[in-house]
Amino acid sequence: MDRCPICRGRLDTEAQCQRCGADLSLVIQTHNKAEDLSSQAIKQMADGKFIQAQHLLEQALALEHSPFRQQLLEFVLQCNINNTPAHLSEIYHSQTTVDSTKKVSLLKRISSSFRTHS
Ligand SMILES: [Zn+2]
Repeated sequence: MDRCPICRGRLDTEAQCQRCGADLSLVIQTHNKAEDLSSQAIKQMADGKFIQAQHLLEQALALEHSPFRQQLLEFVLQCNINNTPAHLSEIYHSQTTVDSTKKVSLLKRISSSFRTHS
């Protein structure tokens, strides 16, 4: 977060907006918590744990909306509904035999898109 959500003024590291004086400590805490939940969700997804990822993303979205989190949740929901995630099926269904490099590349892909969109 680099702009005040109230006046759009630029923020420094202070938990108070220099422009409108708004106390943003709670907003910052909420934002950090939502980011934390999102990264946990991405880790769960990379492990093929889509139900856990869904719960984490729902919590993150309840704290702070972001279009990327919404997209992630829709993706996870689709995986959970179909129970056969299109391009993740091999990770989901054969966790014991799956080549771990596939998980790593998946995690990298999801994380890089997470950084771009959040
Ligand atoms: Zn402000």
